[in-house]
Amino acid sequence: MVSKMAYRCPECGKVFKDLKALRSHFIKIHRNNYCSLCKKRVKHYVMHCMKKKDDVWHLIYLVLIDGFSSLNEEERELAERLLVKMLRVEIVFTEAGYRS
Ligand SMILES: [Zn+2]
Ligand SMILES: [Zn+2]
Repeated sequence: MVSKMAYRCPECGKVFKDLKALRSHFIKIHRNNYCSLCKKRVKHYVMHCMKKKDDVWHLIYLVLIDGFSSLNEEERELAERLLVKMLRVEIVFTEAGYRS
């Protein structure tokens, strides 16, 4: 058995091999004008998450959509820790495939 670290999409639960793959999935599928955290429509998703980045999940979503570029050093470190804590999962490969 081989186990590997992966990242789980917080919106739909799909698992991706790395953060880059999760980010491109998130941007393609989940970036729209609806914030599932606030359960309301927003004009601009990135701006919306920026404004609410004191909230853990909005900070995570901001990074998923926009990367780390708009964050200062302190926020970046926090976001990196959060991504590992909240989204990283260990998947175990077995002969039958994998389970998470
Ligand atoms: Zn997803
Ligand atoms: Zn929101």
